[in-house]
Amino acid sequence: MTVSIPYATTQFASLEQALKHYFGYDSFRPGQRQMVEYALHDRDLLVIMPTGGGKSLCFQLPALLKEGVMIVVSPLIALMQDQVQALQNNGIPATLLNSSISPVESQSRQAAILDRKIKLVYVAPERLLSESFLGFLDQVKARVGISAFAIDEAHCVSEWGHDFRPEYRQLRRLRHRYQNDDRIIPILALTATATERVRHDILGQLELDKPHVHIASFNRPNLYYEVRPKGSTRQAYTELFQQVQRTEGAGIIYCLSRKRVDEITAKLQHDGISALPYHAGLSDAVRKDNQDKFIRDDARVMVATVAFGMGINKPDVRFVIHYDLPRNIEGYYQESGRAGRDGEPSRCTLFYGAGDIRTVEFLIAQKVDPATGEPLEDEQRIASQQLRRVINYAEAMECRRTIQLGYFGEDFPGNCDTCDNCCHPKPIEDWTLEAQKFLSCVARFAQKGQRFGINHTIDVLRGSKNDRVLKNEHDKLSTYGIGKDRSAEQWRLLGRSLIHQRLLDETSDGYSMLELNALSWEVLKKQRSVMVAFTPAKPEAVNGSSNVDAAEVEALYDRLQKLRKRLADEQSVPPYVVFPNSSLRSMANIQPQTLAQFATIPGVGSRKLTQYSKIFIAEIRWFREQRGLPLQAETGIEPQLTPPIAQPNLASFTQLQTLELYQQGMEPGAIAEQRHVRRSTIMSHLAELLEMGYPIDLDDLVPLDRQNKIMYAINTVGPDALGSIREHLGEMYGYDEIRLVRSRWRRETE
Ligand code: ADP
Ligand code: ZN
Repeated sequence: MTVSIPYATTQFASLEQALKHYFGYDSFRPGQRQMVEYALHDRDLLVIMPTGGGKSLCFQLPALLKEGVMIVVSPLIALMQDQVQALQNNGIPATLLNSSISPVESQSRQAAILDRKIKLVYVAPERLLSESFLGFLDQVKARVGISAFAIDEAHCVSEWGHDFRPEYRQLRRLRHRYQNDDRIIPILALTATATERVRHDILGQLELDKPHVHIASFNRPNLYYEVRPKGSTRQAYTELFQQVQRTEGAGIIYCLSRKRVDEITAKLQHDGISALPYHAGLSDAVRKDNQDKFIRDDARVMVATVAFGMGINKPDVRFVIHYDLPRNIEGYYQESGRAGRDGEPSRCTLFYGAGDIRTVEFLIAQKVDPATGEPLEDEQRIASQQLRRVINYAEAMECRRTIQLGYFGEDFPGNCDTCDNCCHPKPIEDWTLEAQKFLSCVARFAQKGQRFGINHTIDVLRGSKNDRVLKNEHDKLSTYGIGKDRSAEQWRLLGRSLIHQRLLDETSDGYSMLELNALSWEVLKKQRSVMVAFTPAKPEAVNGSSNVDAAEVEALYDRLQKLRKRLADEQSVPPYVVFPNSSLRSMANIQPQTLAQFATIPGVGSRKLTQYSKIFIAEIRWFREQRGLPLQAETGIEPQLTPPIAQPNLASFTQLQTLELYQQGMEPGAIAEQRHVRRSTIMSHLAELLEMGYPIDLDDLVPLDRQNKIMYAINTVGPDALGSIREHLGEMYGYDEIRLVRSRWRRETE
């Protein structure tokens, strides 16, 4: 294949080959390839993809293939750290600069950037726009070149978005500062924002120049959406618990209040689920600690208010449960969308009980001007409208996706096959007679010039003798007690269904009063029948795949997960940085026993092949041996790997960690202690780093006279056999120092 784009000048035959080499993926996700190509052609871009769509790759791969350094702006330090860590673990030279880094460390990172050792630099916006940093950027531009500015979470420029950041407004200064140069430096803006207004704002605020705008579908095909009825508190908790127990993997449970969060956490913990709370009432330290535990799979379930999740990159969240009603559809879409970023099947459950409506209405009625105590009418009106749409979603009988995507202006045809309404259409029953009883009860109130809500109507129908019934003399109405044959819950369901089908109106003034409309009268006059859908009692499992070897695969998967956890803990990184679940799944299914087979696993790029293949293959072979499964002879044939493009030799993640501590001025012994490894391991890291050209000061580590002696020995016996060099030098010399000096020798002579 011949292509006329810049990457042809690199050593990769195709973009796919580069993708596999750096990230280990076999193919691009929808839209990615095109974005990468545009970026390689220096186009401005606005990339709008839903969470989990794979936005990062759209700038990360071009950064690696283009000349110069890419500057990545991102609003949250945690998010940056995550991405940089994941990149470094893939052997990609990325670094980050923010206020949490010591001046000395900052200096050394800046030196590495000017030294062409870095391809991606993550910066917080306020840092980027400081005069001193802009000065540094000028240097970078002159000496190394800037390939592009990538603006992640670009919706932060918009006041209409949900997390406006004033510093983002300043980013346009970048465009102006570099405008009169030989060429404009392209801006790649990325966001998961779904609303038109915010998208428009991004284009204007960042002054994008003839940008290519890519809007991906917001459909998330791997998510299963369902709404479950929320009965009594106990029933609701029981179902919640069963769902958590039945679903494998990590999950988030959203609640409306801190109190509810604490309550549910305590119950789950009591029932043996490893759950932790997250809400604004906890100290920063506790919140951070709980979040870290969740990300590192030390806690399986996070029970949280909606404050949790912004900036959490955890890709393998398997379920998100809304235990309480969300306030609007967009919020629900984004929060539930934190499930399944890795593209694997995940479940999004909304628990819906009519009682929640009143809670939310109460909260809406609380929206008052703090100064005057006057209700904020506009806000209340908007909030009420949004609540209506959530209720419509919860009570709908049509495809959940059609409703959600419709909210974002997307036309989804329905029949998605992965929502409760498509998979289990509710059994529908004719409830015309009951509807007539219900509506005529409301009509009786109206005759007396009164209005009431659903609960009172049900009380009258079921013949309650409570105060309000008696005081209003509603026990004298002809409809009093005509509905004893149905439970209050059934009547409530009917009432909600009538409202939802617009056969009855409910006021949205915070009081939820029932009012008859024209359609109600059609029902009362027997001109229209009423059908009601019922929710099946038991939810289904997401993917009940049955496989003959399923038990075996599961057992291996389990072991690989444990291995991954151990490796991750050793390096203090979250497990998914080592491998995503999908890679482990594929290892468990394919059970690769040779390097060549291992290299075909999705998520295994060249770095991870070197770093992890041996230990994972060993685990897989050991597993097969224990179970008496046939073992394949090792071929010894190395898999074909693409050579890295001309770049500094890349240090491994563990080497870079050593480097970081070394650059903070720590002695090798202290580094070894802190990292819980042997001193000799640190010494060989330093030797390897030195050889790769990283700034390691040999004079610090080996006295000059000894260096000279060792150099002499190497020149005499050659560099290859450490043993011979040492033999030549005598017992007064150690391997560590010989290795270090040999690295210098190699760096200077090879
Ligand atoms: P976003 O920023 O759009 O939410 P990310 O860039 O974090 O999404 O990507 C989401 C997940 O998808 C990550 O785990 C990432 O490694 C994975 N991913 C991205 N591109 C691909 C691809 N082409 N093939 C397989 N997995 C991918
Ligand atoms: Zn559907």
